[in-house]
Amino acid sequence: MLTGLHIAVIGGDARQLEVIRKLIELDAKLSLIGFDQLDHGFTGASKEQLNEVDFTTVSAIILPVPGTNMEGQVDTIFSNEKIVLTEEIVKNTPEHCTIYSGITNPYLNQLVASTNRKLVQLFERDDVAIYNAIPTVEGTIMMVIQHTDITIHNSKVAVLGLGRVGMSVARTFSALGAKVRVGARKSEHIARIFEMGVTPFYLNELSSNVSDVDVCINTIPHQIVTSDVISKMPAHTLIIDLASKPGGTDFRYAEKRGIKALLAPGLPGIVAPKTAGQIVAKVLAQLLKEEMEGRKGN
Ligand code: NAP
Repeated sequence: MLTGLHIAVIGGDARQLEVIRKLIELDAKLSLIGFDQLDHGFTGASKEQLNEVDFTTVSAIILPVPGTNMEGQVDTIFSNEKIVLTEEIVKNTPEHCTIYSGITNPYLNQLVASTNRKLVQLFERDDVAIYNAIPTVEGTIMMVIQHTDITIHNSKVAVLGLGRVGMSVARTFSALGAKVRVGARKSEHIARIFEMGVTPFYLNELSSNVSDVDVCINTIPHQIVTSDVISKMPAHTLIIDLASKPGGTDFRYAEKRGIKALLAPGLPGIVAPKTAGQIVAKVLAQLLKEEMEGRKGN
């Protein structure tokens, strides 16, 4: 339980509601900032303005998945108010206060450095990334169905990258009956791809592995689907780029060649916001418990 632990939840989208639900269940004391237009009232949590919160008792600040923007502004879909997480606010918190965010940026890094607070990036964690791969794959399937006129079954699918997302994408498309090949650069990944029962190839041979693909799914956050690679694809190939912005595809060239290439960020929050929120909530609850027990132990 998190009884008595004062937590400030600042901004977010539908995913954050699952976090709030979980923390209430664990009996934390919640200050909700940026939720004034949320119809749903949470018993045991108070909606507050940023300047009303007593940050001197806040042990954890929970930001939405994107954290802040480069000016410290926190996005919220539940308020029109401009919310900015400033150095002054964070300095007011107790020294042990931890900031939790999905990802970080130079603003947040600088903020925690100058205030000497800890920042936890939830999306850096293997467990969160692996759980998140599940709704990401489901969203990818949705996009492929929407943007092709063939079945996934028996289609030729190239997956680029064998990380947490790439592995799940390859396995699921293969289970749906697609003829999957996966590109990687490490020999141990090539071995794993072989073990998975799909076809491996080295990424330095990417150009010669796309001449018959129906769908190319990129998970590598570097320019990999270059103009040279795209020029070898059949005109009907669909490129789905899952890698974080700006993706790994030469979108300008794809458009010029008339090949449909779609950057598809944030699929978990789009196709399964409840599950995506529960994934974050589960890990966050565990981390907060550990943190609280650690402090009690000391
Ligand atoms: P990951 O586990 O780090 O996997 C990344 C893969 O890219 C690894 O196989 C890595 O291979 C490869 N790679 C990285 N740099 C490379 C390079 N320069 N050349 C060749 N291969 C390279 O990451 P992940 O969790 O699978 O996530 C993949 C991407 O999807 C990230 O950008 C993530 O932000 C994004 N993502 C998007 C969604 C969405 O909804 N669209 C959802 C979740 C994640 P090595 O091991 O050889 O480095």
